[in-house]
Amino acid sequence: MEKVNYFIKSGKNLLLEILFPSSCVGCSIRGQILCTNCEQNLRQAERPTESNILALYDYRDPIVKKAIWELKYHKTPYLGARLGALLYDAMQEDIMGIQIFSQGLPIYVVPVPISKDKKNTRGYNQSEIIARSFCNSAENNIFELKNNIVSKKLNTIPQARLTNRSKRLQNIKGTFEVKNGEEIKGKTVIIIDDVTTTGGTMLEMMKILKKSGAKKVVGFAVAH
Ligand SMILES: [Zn+2]
Repeated sequence: MEKVNYFIKSGKNLLLEILFPSSCVGCSIRGQILCTNCEQNLRQAERPTESNILALYDYRDPIVKKAIWELKYHKTPYLGARLGALLYDAMQEDIMGIQIFSQGLPIYVVPVPISKDKKNTRGYNQSEIIARSFCNSAENNIFELKNNIVSKKLNTIPQARLTNRSKRLQNIKGTFEVKNGEEIKGKTVIIIDDVTTTGGTMLEMMKILKKSGAKKVVGFAVAH
């Protein structure tokens, strides 16, 4: 039913679904993009990763890895939507804490941006797909999706290509830019990413959002 609702919301995805009927990313069974059985067996991430950064799944799990790969390179936005809903479900307790902290103000949900080039090739920003579904999963409109607040300035070397931690942290410095900074003052923000490795990207975004006056910033990732 959840799946049906999602496709009603998005005609474009419905078309995709007709053109490429889904089969499970884990076991190839037809009818579901991620079947209940595979979903229940995904390896959970060891928490916490960094302070204020939480991840749902262990990226070493081959199905998790494949799901992220498919989402990034094989135009499967509905897979990202499913992952966003799962992320919301798993983070209930933390969300409640954040909600208390935000004192009734909407919580801003900011996806990690990707470069324009990448977005053009990929057709979408995968973190934005995850974030949108994450927001839509809440029944009481506690979230506001903000995909115009942080933009990516430079085309850095993909973090995944750098094996050295300090090189990764150096590579990410100065990559992001806060736009409409006024909006962020005093707000509670959740950054959403598909995968966090060293946490460098999230930490850099947290830093610039805090600089712009955000009261509290946390990061949620689908995998670590
Ligand atoms: Zn399966």
